[in-house]
Amino acid sequence: MYYDIIIARPFDKVFTYELDDQSLEIGQIVIVPFGKAMEVGMVMASDVKKPDYNIKKIESIISGIKFNEINIKFLKWVSDYTLAPIGSVLKLFTINKDIISYQRETKDLPEPSFKSTILNDEQDKAKVDMIKIQKYSHKPIVLEGVTGSGKTEVYFDLIEREINESKQILIMVPEISLTPQLENRFKERFGIEINIWHSKITPKRRKEIWHKCYEGEPLVVIGARSSLFLPFKNLGLTVIDEEHDSSYKQEDSIRYQARDLAVVKANYEKNKLILTSATPSLETINNINNKKYHHVFLSKQYSGLPLPQISLVDLSKNKLEKNQWISSFLKNEIENCLLNKEQALIFLNRRGYSPLSLCVECGYRHQCAQCSSWLVMHQQKKRLLCHQCGSIEEMSFNCPKCLAKDSIKFIGPGVERIAEELTQSFPDKVVNVMSSDLINSPKKIKELIDKFSNKEIDIIVATQIMAKGYDFPNLSLVGVIDADAGLFGGDMRAIEKTYNMLQQVSGRAGRSQQTGKVIIQTYYPEQPIIQSLQQRDRTTFIHQALMEREQFNIPPFGFMTSIIISGSSKANVEKISQQLVYFRKYSEECSVLGPVEAPINLLKGQFRYRILLKGKSRKNLNIFTKKMVNSVKIPSAVKVIIDVDPYTFL
Ligand SMILES: [Zn+2]
Ligand SMILES: [Zn+2]
Repeated sequence: MYYDIIIARPFDKVFTYELDDQSLEIGQIVIVPFGKAMEVGMVMASDVKKPDYNIKKIESIISGIKFNEINIKFLKWVSDYTLAPIGSVLKLFTINKDIISYQRETKDLPEPSFKSTILNDEQDKAKVDMIKIQKYSHKPIVLEGVTGSGKTEVYFDLIEREINESKQILIMVPEISLTPQLENRFKERFGIEINIWHSKITPKRRKEIWHKCYEGEPLVVIGARSSLFLPFKNLGLTVIDEEHDSSYKQEDSIRYQARDLAVVKANYEKNKLILTSATPSLETINNINNKKYHHVFLSKQYSGLPLPQISLVDLSKNKLEKNQWISSFLKNEIENCLLNKEQALIFLNRRGYSPLSLCVECGYRHQCAQCSSWLVMHQQKKRLLCHQCGSIEEMSFNCPKCLAKDSIKFIGPGVERIAEELTQSFPDKVVNVMSSDLINSPKKIKELIDKFSNKEIDIIVATQIMAKGYDFPNLSLVGVIDADAGLFGGDMRAIEKTYNMLQQVSGRAGRSQQTGKVIIQTYYPEQPIIQSLQQRDRTTFIHQALMEREQFNIPPFGFMTSIIISGSSKANVEKISQQLVYFRKYSEECSVLGPVEAPINLLKGQFRYRILLKGKSRKNLNIFTKKMVNSVKIPSAVKVIIDVDPYTFL
């Protein structure tokens, strides 16, 4: 008998193999010789014709592991949608030799001990509404709630129902940094073990969780993007926490939007799905408007306190002192906050000490040798770092070009420099920095969060890592150093992202003990976008943003695909880019923009060009994209990446 098999390698086709003594079913997992190695594969078709070339025999069959019809349908859909080779998609399901060789250790599970929480009227109504909806509809439910409204408690109640039914539950979070606090809350509430899934867990844990999911054992998984591909057999509910977060978009190797894939998967499997956010994405709002999603809203903080008042500091009128970035107004507010024995969060979404190092004698700027970006000075590490590729250079105060002594000056602030300014202004207070390069493991995050919760830190200076999810009862003041970075002149997603981030970070203050304050520094206080932020008038921002997107046929009103062409020879990259767009004449429906040099035109020594494709239907745009890429013979020295539904345009 002959079988068509997909191999967990980046090939977009099946390979035919032979097996004599027994018959296989579609979806079965096998080991086959491939090149010089043995590879894992999955049976896609049986009873196929013998091809007219020499074929190899199937080495062995993994008994007990098999993809069902819905799994295979989803796998094919992911490959069709993302234009990723089907073999690469199979690999996403963590099908590999290590996973499938597993000896189960039996362990008695502790009995859960639920501690119920008391919901307020609004939360209780939301819960009852959601249960009602889940009885008659499989459409996703969006649980929107202002920051501090207690969304988590509401969905915990729905999780409790699933645990009582012995179901499997998946909670997806955008970043693993968010797992420790959620894990603690979960343990407190349910008293059961929770399974954390992300790329850094041990191979042993990985295997255990995978097989527990496959065997349908009741369990709760909190996971990053890749948890969506776990082989749940008995999934009752998926919760996508902070659904608006752009970290759900995977940007390396296979590019996919985990939230969107989870919605499709839940629809195929007829599973319940909840999306939560204080700032739902425009795509999600559009789906609510079109009745594709249900909507449940929490309008008040759980504590009953009003949302913190937002004040603007007009930096064009309140001039900053030389080499200082915190206005006297904000400094006064920090002082008042500390006098009341409360804590402050100062927000700037820029890592390091200073984004630019410049020679005042000759104008030389420290630039990455591999990328078209300036090196960022990191004082704690005493190094210059490239934020694009991670290259590190020694810090020097002398100019490497004109050799002048002590001529390098640091221009502009990062979080470390803001912390330095705060330490000078408040010398007897504890100031700490929280950014992903310093606090880079769940353990370090937990330590810092605990210290801040225990009031061992007075002021925390943080990047976006702090904008989401955390809850600190004694935090009463949030200061935003620079609201303008990212709100003006960026692409459409950058603006939405910054707006959401500022709204989220504003919601960290005054959640439970005292009314909070938010101070935002800006040079453009009159701009509508800053005004809607200050007045908490999200509706106007959303309305405006959706109108603009509709006008330009961009998501959610049209579809986009980016093609990124890169290579070490600029001439080659440009040539291939030109050849690709020659294909544009074959379509009237899809529009082709570019090629243009990418904003980051050099990355890790590779020159980069971009092409943007737009269309009215995803299906037709994908057909067009495939044909376009196949129309050119791409030499091995040039790399072409297809990014369906792109989130970044750099
Ligand atoms: Zn110089
Ligand atoms: Zn670099």
